[in-house]
Amino acid sequence: MSANADRHEFQAEVKQLLDLMIHSLYSNKDIFLRELISNASDALDRRRFEQLTDEGLRSEGELGIWIEADKENRLLTISDNGIGMSREEVVANLGTIARSGTKAFMQNLSSMKREGEVPPELIGQFGVGFYSAFMVADEVTVVTRRAGSDHAVRWVSTGDGYTVEDAARNEAGTTITLKLKPTDEEANLSDYSDEWVIKQIVKRYSDFVAYPIKMKTWEDDDGAKVLKESVLNSQKAIWARSKEEVTDEEYKEFYRHISHDWHEPLAHVPVRLEGTFEAQGLLYIPGSAPFDLYHPEMKRGVQLYVKRVFIMDECKELVPTYLRFIKGVVDAQDLSLNVSREILQKDRQIRVIRKNLVKKVFDTLDEIASGEAEKYEGFWKNFGPALKEGLVNGEAKEQDRILELLRAPSTHEPGKLTSLKDYVSRMKEGQDVIYYMTGPSLDAVQRSPHLEAFKAKGYEVLFFVDPIDEIWVERGLVYGEKTFRSVGQGEVELGTEEEKKAAEEKRESKERELRDLLTTLRAHLQDEVKEVRLSSRLTDSPVCLVGEAGDMSPQMEKLMKSMGQEVPKTKRILELNPDHPVVAKLQAMFGEDPKAEGLKSYAELLYGQALLAEGGALPDPVRFASLVTELMVR
Ligand code: ADP
Repeated sequence: MSANADRHEFQAEVKQLLDLMIHSLYSNKDIFLRELISNASDALDRRRFEQLTDEGLRSEGELGIWIEADKENRLLTISDNGIGMSREEVVANLGTIARSGTKAFMQNLSSMKREGEVPPELIGQFGVGFYSAFMVADEVTVVTRRAGSDHAVRWVSTGDGYTVEDAARNEAGTTITLKLKPTDEEANLSDYSDEWVIKQIVKRYSDFVAYPIKMKTWEDDDGAKVLKESVLNSQKAIWARSKEEVTDEEYKEFYRHISHDWHEPLAHVPVRLEGTFEAQGLLYIPGSAPFDLYHPEMKRGVQLYVKRVFIMDECKELVPTYLRFIKGVVDAQDLSLNVSREILQKDRQIRVIRKNLVKKVFDTLDEIASGEAEKYEGFWKNFGPALKEGLVNGEAKEQDRILELLRAPSTHEPGKLTSLKDYVSRMKEGQDVIYYMTGPSLDAVQRSPHLEAFKAKGYEVLFFVDPIDEIWVERGLVYGEKTFRSVGQGEVELGTEEEKKAAEEKRESKERELRDLLTTLRAHLQDEVKEVRLSSRLTDSPVCLVGEAGDMSPQMEKLMKSMGQEVPKTKRILELNPDHPVVAKLQAMFGEDPKAEGLKSYAELLYGQALLAEGGALPDPVRFASLVTELMVR
């Protein structure tokens, strides 16, 4: 360590990450090379991009990546002439984990580790990146010089803290030198100082990297050994090749390259736009949901290229938010290389491309849904709630397609999901709306008294229990000319016209009979409910709470509150089951003494029961308990 070297500690999360690396959560050590090459490729992308607008950053030679394997000293060196890093950047990038999603993930992981169960597949959810070098090396040295600067720095670490000092480098770029661990086949540590091993790994993982990856190897030249530089990768942009030419393995490998996800993708979606605007691309639908799907900082997946030049990561303009999990590359032919985010937002071409991408993704999902139902259900469980956001903020055409793709549990076959198409095909004669119930959980809604009449009369009800459901069901969407109707709102009219009429008459006469009782109960509950009436949706339970059509549901109220919004309390309607013995008992009490104290207690108990039955919480549990005790004693 020379005089001007600073010693630094790693951030706690980096220590954890290194700990995981070294104690090898990853059985496949080879991937360190892919990670380092991928970083080099990113750095080259950035240089190529920045030099478009700043001539001073132009490199003298061809942009590329060089690998040197030194068997004698067990060293492996990976260099690039990319953007490089300043001293501050080195400290920030190679000593901390900046992305808060990844940081949170590490924290999660370490709590799981304490409980002794780190599922290895979890680790594939974020880029392991630079630190994976420590899987194969005892010491890592980085010498780097930022393009546009004359100063270079050297970063050295053996895994426990690091030093940073001034250094020299002929040109901008980064050189990473690994002091390799001893070969250990049992621990999957191959001999990474072996040219042949390196060649294989590059071919396997990094063939499509857009820059030449070069290595000097000893070649046989008429009996004499000569050192020759050769390019190890084909550099072919996978999205520009014809489908027939690309193998499944290559598609998967490219997915891993752009997504850092080690799970296999669910499907790949080649995109080719011809006509006014030309673009090619390759999108992927992931096989599993990223841990940060609902985190505002989630890394969006689609990269924008223009004529094979990388322009930007996370191009939000290319896919709607509800498809943020889609990964891939789009290469547009007619955009300017200097295109900025501001321009993208207004660009007509981008809008056309986006529309096509969305269509392609929907087409692919439709195909999976109709051909491979089980696989599709897996997709829906992972991404359904995200996709449903499109029912709130997508365009009308997109919403139609999402409704087609929607799956939900229903009363038809517990444990199974149904599509709207299948629901409609099972609708009863004369049924003109799609019945649904929202609620805090599947368990709660399945047991809800609101369903009783529907079940008894054989009407199927869909269950929507994701928070987003509360919002989209309010949007008045229409599926195949059918609107959606909550079983917990408004009056219920089931059956044929005749049955409806008969039920109505019966209720009216009952209501006349019980009018005064209902008014009294309403008076006792005036702070809680806006009306007490007889129900046509109950067969077994004595009571339930319903809203008026258009009222905010209790879940919606909760959701708004959790988002910090002021919401006025919506009073609901208490419905009594006219055929329940409890109602007869109340009527008898009322007949004896309309002012009986007991009526107030009963009213409160019934209200509490209705809340509990729908999975809600009691406003005053202590009072409820004492009322129950009182009743037991009486
Ligand atoms: P990630 O690549 O997922 O951001 P890494 O841990 O692999 O995470 O790298 C951290 C950061 O270090 C990168 O984002 C980049 O800014 C910087 N970096 C790594 N390798 C290089 C390189 N060869 N050239 C320039 N910067 C690099």
